[in-house]
Amino acid sequence: MAHSVNISIPSLNKQISVPTGLFIDNEFVPSVDSQELIHAINPSTEEVICSVVAASPKDIDVAVAAARKAFKNTWGKNVTGFERSRLINKLADLIERDAQELAELESLNNGKPVRIARDFDIGDTVQCLRYYAGWADKLTGQSLEVDNKTKVSFTRHEPIGVCGQIIPWNYPINMWSWKVAPALAVGCTIVMKPSELCPLTALKLSELIKEAGFPPGVVNTVPSFGPIGGAALAAHSDVDKVAFTGSTITGRKVMEAASKSNLKKLSLELGGKSPHLVFESADLVQAANWAALGICYNSGQDCTAGSRVYVQESVYDKFLDLLISKVKAQVIGDGFDDKTGGGPVVSKGQYDRVWGYIEAGKQEGAKVALGGVKRTGKGYYVDPTIFTEIRPDMKIVKEEIFGPVLVVGRFKTEDEGVFLANDTNYGLGAGLHSNDANQCMRVSSALEAGTVWVNQYNLLYNNVPFGGKKLSGIGRELGSYALEEYTSVKAVHWNFGEKIDWPL
Ligand code: NAD
Repeated sequence: MAHSVNISIPSLNKQISVPTGLFIDNEFVPSVDSQELIHAINPSTEEVICSVVAASPKDIDVAVAAARKAFKNTWGKNVTGFERSRLINKLADLIERDAQELAELESLNNGKPVRIARDFDIGDTVQCLRYYAGWADKLTGQSLEVDNKTKVSFTRHEPIGVCGQIIPWNYPINMWSWKVAPALAVGCTIVMKPSELCPLTALKLSELIKEAGFPPGVVNTVPSFGPIGGAALAAHSDVDKVAFTGSTITGRKVMEAASKSNLKKLSLELGGKSPHLVFESADLVQAANWAALGICYNSGQDCTAGSRVYVQESVYDKFLDLLISKVKAQVIGDGFDDKTGGGPVVSKGQYDRVWGYIEAGKQEGAKVALGGVKRTGKGYYVDPTIFTEIRPDMKIVKEEIFGPVLVVGRFKTEDEGVFLANDTNYGLGAGLHSNDANQCMRVSSALEAGTVWVNQYNLLYNNVPFGGKKLSGIGRELGSYALEEYTSVKAVHWNFGEKIDWPL
């Protein structure tokens, strides 16, 4: 099989070259022992874009060995923070240079609009790399007072080693940057496994890794099916850390594999069922805007999708009307049209899953206030669907749907609102909308979530940590907190004067 293919973008009358091999030691190579391919599908047309090599467990061994060699010889402690910073900044420049092409490829394989991919996903990716490039030459340990006359102790924050990074399909480029940037900044080497549903942009980014000048083996890319390559990476005894983003079910498997192999360090960014609370003092138009963004952005395929909205009874009717009009305003369709705000969901499997939930909602007696009707024609499109008249025991209220499906309920008192918001096994995000400052303080403290947005929703910043509690995960990405996930702390105790008599 050739190591790259040209794929055409008919609407733009142009071609993009896409690597199709495994990226190991800065070269695109075939599998050592498997003929298995991943077929990348365009969810707008349901057609195969191209096929790429699927890594086998033996390929994972080869990639881990390349990453280990680079960690020992050319990266890790062999490169200064200044040099790591320079290379990461160079990578950011190359991604900025190729932003349009990367956005088109992301849109083809994932369905999200090109404009959104370019201005948000890739814009944020460039900023994320530059943010961590800034950290690379500023890593410090602590000097600790023990006995200043004879002894000193200090800590070193050392790169943890070879990192397996397993990412999902909903933000293929952006999730790549959240993982790669902090790991490279501290000196780790990487074996990256992108999702089998959207492997193309991770391969394209690998070309830029080489062009930026990273030594061979520092970043290796091994598209593979989760239960094969992902499982092999999670269970690998020469991988020092696995950073995983995906579903809670898979997160449990990754944790089990880590515990049965070498007890590698883990960070798990998992699912969610995030609530909004809309209080009667809120600016209702703004709250409706943020709630619409919370469920419509990325076609609801967002770990922090605000998929449950609870509204104080006195403003419920007014807010619901506003929310429906805001949700309807988004154009859903062809990702290559600049007016489009939302694309299809990513795959046939995801389409069937989301429709399964919509049907379950109807059967369980919730009322369809918007949507709930299938389109005809090609493409895995799901128009946003809003359910009202819900009960806490309904599947659509309890389970993560990962599509543009929203449930709206009501509450009387603040305590009742907080109870409903926290009535979930997940704890990723939560939004609260109120113009009562004391209430904002009380409620943000009471909400059980890793991120609370007050009078806004879903905005993330590279310098602010992100992660979950409860079934939403362990560890933090972004900010200085992510550096801790990729380092191990060594305490050095140094004696320059004390003598002892033995036995004590
Ligand atoms: P998924 O769990 O099916 O897959 C995620 C990744 O894990 C993929 O690369 C997949 O190939 C791999 N994988 C599958 N089985 C594996 C196994 N046995 N061992 C190791 N790896 C395996 O999730 P998905 O469908 O790709 O993504 C959707 C889920 O991701 C949702 O639940 C969503 O909430 C979550 N998510 C969370 C965050 C966050 O930051 N918390 C961000 C994005 C997505």
